[in-house]
Amino acid sequence: MSQEGPPAERLTPRMAGGISAGRIFGVPLVVTPTWLLLVVLATLAMPSFIRDNVHVSTAASYAVALVLVLLVYGAVLVHEASHVLVAKALGLRVGRVVLQFLGAQSEVLDEPPTPAAEYLVASVGPLTSVLLAGIAAAIGAQFPHHSVGWLLAEATAAINGVVAAFNLLPGMPLDGGRMLRALLWHLTHDKLRGLLVAGWIGRLVAAGTFGYAMLAPKFETGNASFATLYLFFVAVFIWVNASLAIAQARVGAVIPRLEMNSLIRPALTVEAQLPLAEAVRRARAIGARALVVVDSRDRWSGIVSEAAVQATPPERQPWMSVSDLARPVESGLVLSPTLTGEDLMTAVQQTPATEYLVAGADGNLKGVLARADLVAALRAAGVR
Ligand SMILES: [Zn+2]
Repeated sequence: MSQEGPPAERLTPRMAGGISAGRIFGVPLVVTPTWLLLVVLATLAMPSFIRDNVHVSTAASYAVALVLVLLVYGAVLVHEASHVLVAKALGLRVGRVVLQFLGAQSEVLDEPPTPAAEYLVASVGPLTSVLLAGIAAAIGAQFPHHSVGWLLAEATAAINGVVAAFNLLPGMPLDGGRMLRALLWHLTHDKLRGLLVAGWIGRLVAAGTFGYAMLAPKFETGNASFATLYLFFVAVFIWVNASLAIAQARVGAVIPRLEMNSLIRPALTVEAQLPLAEAVRRARAIGARALVVVDSRDRWSGIVSEAAVQATPPERQPWMSVSDLARPVESGLVLSPTLTGEDLMTAVQQTPATEYLVAGADGNLKGVLARADLVAALRAAGVR
């Protein structure tokens, strides 16, 4: 699996966390504590399956189980490394590779520029898993049946085969979903429609995975309750990310239509020492919904957030000056009124704030952009 930062997520900070565990082709590898939990659970779930296939003591069966889990995750890392290698070869930036409860994800930061690039980055993963399955099967054939080496190689081959097949299912966020998106993008010249279709199929894959986990009566190998639990989490993960893809497709359709000019709130400029109550009264009188503080030379020095005013009890407002609530105007907080679409989103992302000054190249104040208005514009277009 690989994951990009969809625009819907870009207004909220990315979740961090995890232990740094080196680099893959220069990209940081992060291991989350949930992955360590998975290693323990998977190791504990497998010894009976191992003793059914090879003659080893109970203690040895746990050791073999741990080696098998690590072999499988080694293969998962090679799968991710192939995504990283192809993405970087195509000039795309990769933020990091994360090992977590459900497996691994490469966070490709850039949108692939062409359908072919998207297809190549996605398809190399399942292809790598198929190759690893073939190599493991060939190694397994060198060992006597029901030896430890045979079991480890054959199980690694089988699991890589399953990883390849599952990742080829044509729903987001799976590799197959990205391949479908690339194909539809190529055929229809509409990047977003491909994403929307692959997102909806992703939801079907999630529902199918959930149904299989609930209905499959007995898993032939390993511990049935662990497999059910794992598949349940996989289903939830796919559902959430397929839904994000659908949201991303909707945001993508809306972003090009965003225009700063239609989002500007009229602002009232006030001196720093003006009591807040008086500033609010004057702003209401002229229909302004924002306060900009100016210094003695008539230059902007601060923006007062609407939320901060609302959080201040009315009885205190006569006793506070507007400067008490103002956020100093840094360079990233002054935006151009000509910003539109993707440029507007990028500008807002670079300096997170609740309010921005909007001023022309001539230095004239046009008003204030409130992040809440931007979010409302996205929501009004059906983005959740
Ligand atoms: Zn993948």
